[in-house]
Formats: sequence, C-alpha cells, structure tokens
Amino acid sequence: MTACAGRPPLLMYHAVGTVAEDPFDLYVTPQRFAEQMAALAALGLRGVSMAELGDAAARGSTAGLVGITFDDGYHEVLTHALPELRRHGFGATFYAVTGLLGGVNAWDPPPRRELMTADDLRMLAGEGYEIGSHTVTHARLAGCDPAVLRREVSASRRALADLLGKPPRTFCYPYGSVDGAAVRAVREAGYAYACAVNRAPGLADTYARPRVGVTDRDFGARLAAKLFLRGR
Ligand SMILES: [Zn+2]
Repeated sequence: MTACAGRPPLLMYHAVGTVAEDPFDLYVTPQRFAEQMAALAALGLRGVSMAELGDAAARGSTAGLVGITFDDGYHEVLTHALPELRRHGFGATFYAVTGLLGGVNAWDPPPRRELMTADDLRMLAGEGYEIGSHTVTHARLAGCDPAVLRREVSASRRALADLLGKPPRTFCYPYGSVDGAAVRAVREAGYAYACAVNRAPGLADTYARPRVGVTDRDFGARLAAKLFLRGR
C-alpha cells in the first residue's frame, strides 16, 4: 500500500502560527508545519494545488502528489507557511473570503485574526500559487436561500477574476457545508473542482472532495500514518 493508493491525499490547513488558545483547532505551529512539509518531502511527495491535483486525477496520474489547501486566507500563513512551501518547491491553494480581504475573521467569535489583502493574493498568484474561492462572507451553504447561494458562489468568483485577471478554478465550502444545490451552483458558476471537509454521501468527489484535516498534533510520522491509513 502506498500513500497514493486510491484517492490522492488533499490536506486541509487553516492558520499557521503560535497562539495562547486555539478553541477551534485552527492552528499549526510554524515548527510543526515545517516538520510536516519535510515529512511529505521525505515520503517523496510533492505538494500541489487543488486544481493541479484535480487535473492530475482526471488524467489518472496522481502518483507522488499531495494536495495542500489553506482555508480562510489568514495573513500569518504568509509569514509562517509560505517560506516552507517555497523551500520544498511545493504548490498549494489558498481559499479566500472575498468580502473580507484585508479584514478579520468576522464569522468566528473573537479573538480576531487578520486576513490577507488583495495585494497578498496577487503576490501569491504571481508566484504560481492557486487562489480559490471560499465565498464572499464565509457563508454556510447547505440549505441556504438560493439567491444567497448564487451570490456567495458567483460574486466571489467575479471578485477574484477582477483581482487576478482570470477566474478561480476551484471552490471551498465554508464549514464543509455542502448539499446538492450548492454543488449545482458551484458547477454552473464555472468552477472545475470543489472541496468539502468530510465525505459527503451522494455527492461526487469532483465538487465535494473530502480532505485530511491536519492539526498541530500531527507530528511528521503521525501525518505520514494519516496519509497511509486514509479511508481504511
Ligand atoms: Zn473557512
């Protein structure tokens, strides 16, 4: 059995940094993140974006690839994760909440965390990193009003297209909240792939791809085990 048996792994990160309290388990410390990237490299894996992983899967050639995603666009990721991605030559996808660029994570209770600006996203895209949509307001999409759903999916796509000169190819459901209507809206808006959190029964992987949540407790060997044992 290899790390790439079956569906290739797609990792889910939120923030990378050091905080006193982390009630939502969003943080991986910079040291742990560096260890995790080194562990992936030692396994012979190369980090890629969600779009690259999706394209590789469509061609049936995902051997040696691991998808890396960062939800919400936390600014600290630029300081603490980006240098490690660069060091290993890894790609990744950063999912931005387009209505809150340069703001804070207003959807969560305090403490507030700074989010990337439009310029930060342009810088990342300029380096070849993928920028994907994580809606306009970090809305919970399953069961939501159809007009709200359309706006969250389509207006965020337009905003990123205006900002980066081309529309984003992938979408990420906030809270992993997805249903059939959300999948249809994402597909009809023109996205190629979308990721959720957990496996969504009845929904195809292309638009509801489950991910492996990575936490600060995943030291290198444990992260490797998570990849190897995925789905068993
Ligand atoms: Zn999120």
